[in-house]
Amino acid sequence: MCSARVAVTVVIDPDRILLIAGDAGLVELDWASLALAGVCKHCGHWDLTDVHGAGFVVEPKSWRGGQKIVRRLRERVPEGVVYEVRHPGASE
Ligand SMILES: [Zn+2]
Repeated sequence: MCSARVAVTVVIDPDRILLIAGDAGLVELDWASLALAGVCKHCGHWDLTDVHGAGFVVEPKSWRGGQKIVRRLRERVPEGVVYEVRHPGASE
């Protein structure tokens, strides 16, 4: 009955990125209000946070179309907010 898999839909447009995660609802981040974008050096996941503290993690490895999403992120996310993160639990 209980499935851990959540269908995630990502919408990227010129102004924002929108994450729709089934019953969990919807998170919207404006590119202009993006404060932090951690890029994982282990698996390539992105940890996005805006100036209001809202955010979400993009997991290209486990999402359908994930690599395409990452390409769009690289185009849209301002360089100044990108930093490198380690995957939780990964050893150096
Ligand atoms: Zn990672």
